[in-house]
Order: sequence, then structure tokens, then C-alpha cells
Amino acid sequence: MTVIGGGIAGLCAAIAARRGGAVVRLLEAAPRPLRGGNARHGRNFRLTHETPLDYVPDRYTAEELRAELRSVTGDDTDRALTELLIERAHSIAGWLIDHGVHLQPPGTGVMPYSRRTAFPLGGGKAMINALYASAERLGIAINYDSEVRSILRSEGGGWTINVRSTGADDPIRTRSVVVCAGGAGADQAWLRANFGSTAEGWMVRGTPYADGRLLDLLIGAGGCAIGDPTTCHVVPVDARGPQFDGGIVTRITSIPLGLVVDRSGARIDVAGAGSQPTHYAKWGPRIADCPGQLAYLLLDARGLARAAPSALAPITAPSLGELAATLAIDPAALLQNIDDFNAAPANAARTIAVPPFFAYPMRPGLTFVHYGIKVDATMRVVQADGRRHDDLFAAGMIMAANVLRLGYLAGLGITLSAVFGQIAGEEAARHVRG
Ligand SMILES: Cc1cc2nc3c(=O)[nH]c(=O)nc-3n(C[C@H](O)[C@H](O)[C@H](O)COP(=O)(O)OP(=O)(O)OC[C@H]3O[C@@H](n4cnc5c(N)ncnc54)[C@H](O)[C@@H]3O)c2cc1C
Repeated sequence: MTVIGGGIAGLCAAIAARRGGAVVRLLEAAPRPLRGGNARHGRNFRLTHETPLDYVPDRYTAEELRAELRSVTGDDTDRALTELLIERAHSIAGWLIDHGVHLQPPGTGVMPYSRRTAFPLGGGKAMINALYASAERLGIAINYDSEVRSILRSEGGGWTINVRSTGADDPIRTRSVVVCAGGAGADQAWLRANFGSTAEGWMVRGTPYADGRLLDLLIGAGGCAIGDPTTCHVVPVDARGPQFDGGIVTRITSIPLGLVVDRSGARIDVAGAGSQPTHYAKWGPRIADCPGQLAYLLLDARGLARAAPSALAPITAPSLGELAATLAIDPAALLQNIDDFNAAPANAARTIAVPPFFAYPMRPGLTFVHYGIKVDATMRVVQADGRRHDDLFAAGMIMAANVLRLGYLAGLGITLSAVFGQIAGEEAARHVRG
């Protein structure tokens, strides 16, 4: 059988299928150094536990996860898949550990306190490397630089996959396919078609290889689309980062410590954003609405001292006037807005008053779109007419909208992709074993 896409979903599918007795090939569009999809950028993943464990403190129950999912999705979700996710969120860490992933012990101060999520030791890249090493040990054939261009039903059963590798298209015959090719966020033409010209100002935080081709292929072949191609998760990222694949390190995390202005120096705010963990998702769309989709986070010396270190150093100036000149903002307007901000009692803990002064330019950074392919509880792709092929599965972000048609919970992307990847691999192995 063949797994398409070597992110966390594809790796979990391939490993689970191999352990289930299938002969497995994994096709990955990216070259080896860029393997692993977006989990390379991942920081933590969500799990449930009744007691403290070596890698997560306190407890976080299935009931809590269920309630939090209900609150972010508004209960507009596939209940059966949501329950499967909740059930397996209990065993996901153990499964990853069994396949070579090391998790950070809590309480060392290296990572923030979190009872809901575990942090892979060495970050997402180390987790991905461990899973690839496991896959190799298990004898899974891995082809890099192998972009799937089409999947066609073969005469006599199974599928023919056309793979572009080193400039040539090669057909591969296979008995069963698991599609784990990620969402559609990296295709700018697709984003423009669904979100309009606003998408032109977005940066794409993740891999450029998740371009939605496989999603289009599945839908074009009769697969049922699910979710809304015009809703997405967008957060503030450093405008000086790369257009693609800036990852987690370009996210701007210190907004609660300072003042945000647009490119004319006018203050902008988001009602209720505060310093909640969800504030990123509220600020992203707000910045997308700013002129030029550009905003600046301003901090003074005290704000910067409290901020987490950033990958790109802030723009620095000894006075606010010089900062305004560097940012090409009218100094009079900026100084007036800062004075008004500083005068408000609510901002007493984050006034912009002590030099030197700093600015981070921010743009909207897309994490994912709430859109994908419908699957059933075995991860088989559901056709628009309700039927399904026995031998065609999808897992990971490509089907996340079955559960997440709206909203997000930190650390859920990796858990969801790993859990549904495992299930797809188990089911595909069961199918090929007959
Ligand atoms: C910057 C960033 C930070 C994140 N941080 C976290 C976090 O801390 N915690 C968390 O839980 N989630 C996080 N997420 C979300 C999480 O990373 C994703 O939900 C998860 O990695 C998705 O896995 P996937 O395997 O389904 O898809 P992807 O990671 O998108 O992988 C898809 C793979 O398929 C390959 N592919 C695509 N098209 C083809 C083709 N035609 N042929 C062959 N191969 C193809 C791609 O190269 C890629 O390797 C983050 C996402 C981003 C963008």
C-alpha cells in the first residue's frame, strides 16, 4: 500500500500500517531536508491523562477536552470522529514514545507549564526525525522528491499513482492509498480564489508543498468536500520572515506587552483579545484588515525585557521620534497616540515610556484553512453520493475539517493528524491483508 505525504499523519499511517502487516511505500514531495510537513514547526501536542506523567503535570481529562472542543467548534463537528480523537488523545504520547520520540520533562522551566500538552524534546523536527528513523527500521520504503500528480483507479482493482520525481512521471501500482498530503494553504491562487485579494497579503507559515493538489484530486474524483474554504486560522507573524515556511519562530508573541499601531500610526486593538492563549487567532484577522495588511507592535525597554526572545531582532531606536522616522510614520500622529495610550489607567503596566524603543512589523500568517475531504470513522474517503472506496483513505489536515470546521485548540493539529493517521494506517493494513 502507499501513503502520500510524509508529515506527521503520513508517518503515523505508514508506521501503523507496517505494524499491521502491510508492505508500505511513503511518497513525499519535499526533499529529505524538508521532510516532515508542518510538524517540523510544532511545539507541543494535546493529550489527555488522569494522573501526572513523566512528560505532563497534573491531569487533563477526556471530559475537559470534549468541553473545550465543543466550545471552539460550536458543536458543528462529526461526533463519531470527535469521540475517536478524544479516546486516542489518551494513548498518543505513549505511541509516539514507543516509536522513538522523546518528550520534555515538565517542571524544568525550559517550557511553560502546560497540563494539556506535551513538548517533544528537541521540538517538532526531532519528533519527525525519530518517526522517520522508526519507519526506516520497520522497512518502510521512503521516496523523497516524489510529488504525486494523479491517482487513478486501475483496471482490475487498486490504484495507479503518477509520481513526478527528478522531472519524469512514473506510474506506481498499489492496492490501497492513504492520502496525508496536508491542507490547501500553500496554493496562493487557491487562497485568492476563496478569500479574494486579501489573501495576497498573507504569509504562509507552513510547508510550501501542502498545495492542495491531492484535495482537488479527491474532490474532482467525486469525494465530498467538508468545511468552509473561506474560514481559516491566521496569526500575526514578523513581516520580515519568509513568504513560506517561517514556522513557529516568526510568530509575534508579545502583543499583550505593548501597543499595536497601523502604518499611519493609528492605534488598533482587538476587543477581548487580552493575553489569552487565543489572542493570536484574534489578532491575525485584525491585522489582515489594516491598510497594506501591515501593523507594528511597539514596545519600550521594559516591554522587550519581558518578551520572549524572537528569531528576528526588533527594529530599534533611541527615541520615539526616531522610531517613527524609521517606520515612515508621521511622528506627531504616533506620539499623540502613544500619549493617549500611556494615559489610560488600564495600560499602566505596559506604557511605552522607557527608551530605547522597539518595533516588530507584523503581517497575517496563515496556519490552515477549515476545509478538506469528508471521511468516515475508518478514514475512508466519503464520496458525494455517500459511497466509499474500500481502499482509499485520508488522514491529517486534509480531513481535519471533519472535526474542526471552526476554531482551534493549541496542540490539537499534531494530535489530530497523528491519531487519524494511525487509524487510517491500521484500516488500510486490515484491508490489504484481506
Ligand atoms: C508554523 C506552524 C506551527 C505549528 N505548531 C503546532 C504545534 O505546536 N502543535 C500542534 O499540534 N500543531 C501545530 N501546527 C499544526 C500541525 O503542524 C499540523 O496540524 C500537522 O503537522 C499536519 O500534519 P499533516 O501530516 O496532516 O500535514 P502536513 O504537515 O501539511 O504534511 C503534508 C505532507 O504531504 C506532502 N505532500 C503534499 N502534497 C504532496 C504530493 N502531491 N505528493 C507527495 N507529497 C505531498 C508535504 O510535503 C508534507 O510533507 C503548526 C502548524 C504550523 C504551520
